[in-house]
Amino acid sequence: MKKRIGYRRIPKLSKSSFTAGLQCLKRLYLESYHRDLAAPIDEAQQALFDAGALVGEMARQLYPGGILMDHDYLHIDEAVASTKALLGDTSLAAIYEAGFEFDDIRVRTDILARAKGGRFDLVEVKSGTGVKEEHIPDLAIQLYVLRGAGVRAGRTWLAHLNKDYVYPGGGYDLDQLFKVEDVSKRVQEYQAEIPPALRQMRLALREADAPDIEPGRQCSVPYDCPFFDFCHQDAPEYPVSELPRATERLLMRLKAAGIRDIREIAPGFSGLNPLQKRVRDCVVEGRAYIDPAVRAELQGLVYPVHFLDFETFSPAIPRYAGTRPYQAVPFQWSDHILGADGKLTHEEFLHDGKGDPREPLARSLLETLGAGGSIMVYSGFEEARIRELARDLPRFSKDLLALLEGRLVDLLPILQRHCYHPDFHGSFSLKAVLPALVPDLDYDDLAITDGQAASLAYEEIIYEGTTDDRREQLREELLRYCGRDTEAMVRLVETLLRR
Ligand code: SF4
Repeated sequence: MKKRIGYRRIPKLSKSSFTAGLQCLKRLYLESYHRDLAAPIDEAQQALFDAGALVGEMARQLYPGGILMDHDYLHIDEAVASTKALLGDTSLAAIYEAGFEFDDIRVRTDILARAKGGRFDLVEVKSGTGVKEEHIPDLAIQLYVLRGAGVRAGRTWLAHLNKDYVYPGGGYDLDQLFKVEDVSKRVQEYQAEIPPALRQMRLALREADAPDIEPGRQCSVPYDCPFFDFCHQDAPEYPVSELPRATERLLMRLKAAGIRDIREIAPGFSGLNPLQKRVRDCVVEGRAYIDPAVRAELQGLVYPVHFLDFETFSPAIPRYAGTRPYQAVPFQWSDHILGADGKLTHEEFLHDGKGDPREPLARSLLETLGAGGSIMVYSGFEEARIRELARDLPRFSKDLLALLEGRLVDLLPILQRHCYHPDFHGSFSLKAVLPALVPDLDYDDLAITDGQAASLAYEEIIYEGTTDDRREQLREELLRYCGRDTEAMVRLVETLLRR
């Protein structure tokens, strides 16, 4: 039986601890008492936070004439006191990062905008491009505290980036860059759910131990939980979640049958689709599956075969004229070229970071890909980027679109249809597939090992404060990484054709 601490003093809640508690009570508990068990914030997460901070600052300009409560999270009491003192100052049109406390919950509101009749509109800024379901409780807890603190609340808004805004260059048109949506009704409706949710969270926080909650879909939905590694340390070697496209229903049935590891699934277990059956068989028998039919698919390749990969970066606030928020801007490509005589050559392009990379990238790409030969890619990512380049660069449009006419071959669905290896662990990403099928080649010797790190490296190259030496180092690392991706495809195809 669980030990309850009778009068345990529990920490005050915040907007983020409330949303953490909604995701999983164990997460709330661990964040409250065992933060040391959380994974440290990595570079990619930090970059997201930085982008969010920049978007937040720009959104304030939609509500000018305000004052910023710039007390950090360690000084929220001061923010609450300063906010209280300023609420009556009608010369202020808005308060940014205002602090409030009610019912032992403390919140900071992105923008509190003075509205008619002594009311204040609540505006939450999100760096994404739309309103998501999880934004509603996030705003609802702010409204709950605001009202409890005696503020006459007006409407509730969510400001987010407008994915259709095309930056014309020069200054940003903030009314176009942002969309501000009225979510008052949904946030109001959610108010009824807050008291029972708070009760449940406080009960959990009074316990001596963290709630006994099994890992599941909630570990990554709606947010990646920072305690993922901690909670999954006793996970089986081949968890059933590795079954490709496993539905919630299937996972529940497996759980009900006491099955946690794919190897425990009996051969006649109903409800597995053919791909899931194949995965189960490979894992149980500890062997790779390569369908001989894969050769027929690959024998239609036209030489010279180009193995193509792009690297891109996606600034939240568009950087170049003609781009949109989060548009993936290609800055690098690698092309391994396999001739009919078996000779392999390599071409590559990496922009120097000065200005918009798209035009020089497109020109060099067209020169290298020429007019004939298959272009092998891994996923639909390259096709999407080529279409965007064709849309954005009219003078190259015809030639770019011609690349897509019968030349593109996507290796990813071919592998998904015909291959599996227990070491894929449910993933068909190049990083998972390569070392399993081509054991002498992986990414372990590289400084950059994924697209996100590549994107961050390029942002560092662009940054004016980066030294020349560092720039040169980053260029070398990027060239090695992108080149490895296309070399990986060459070796995978060689392996599959040998079968
Ligand atoms: S990893 Fe999953 S089970 Fe563990 S605290 Fe996070 S959401 Fe809860």
